Amino acid sequence: MEDCSFCKIIDGTIPAKKLYEDDICVAFNDTKPLAPTHFLVVPKRHIGSAVELTDDDAMMVGHIFAVISLLTQIFGISDGYRVVTNCGKSAGQTVHHLHFHVLAGKELGTFN
Ligand code: AMP
Ligand code: ZN
Repeated sequence: MEDCSFCKIIDGTIPAKKLYEDDICVAFNDTKPLAPTHFLVVPKRHIGSAVELTDDDAMMVGHIFAVISLLTQIFGISDGYRVVTNCGKSAGQTVHHLHFHVLAGKELGTFN
């Protein structure tokens, strides 16, 4: 999608430190990390946020979580990490292309 920074990372127009890529998704480091390990996993197909997901996206979402599991094992953080997707302005979403934050490497505290 035009004017979507994550679509531009996917097509290579904007550089990013890509950690993983396949036909369905891309993982890259967050430019403003909130933890020692902080990367994003995004679907290659533009989807604005989780609110747009339907049953038709079940395979894609499941695949992304499998990729997250794989990457956390490769990076040695599988014993403790957090996956977050912000959905909408009041939740703090700033980039309107579905993405899953993966955070690890420090005490993340309880989330409530
Ligand atoms: P959210 O606030 O959930 O929409 O998260 C967007 C995240 O994308 C933030 O943590 C930003 O630091 C990150 N971000 C924005 N632009 C880029 C970029 N070009 N490369 C990597 N991360 C980015
Ligand atoms: Zn996009």
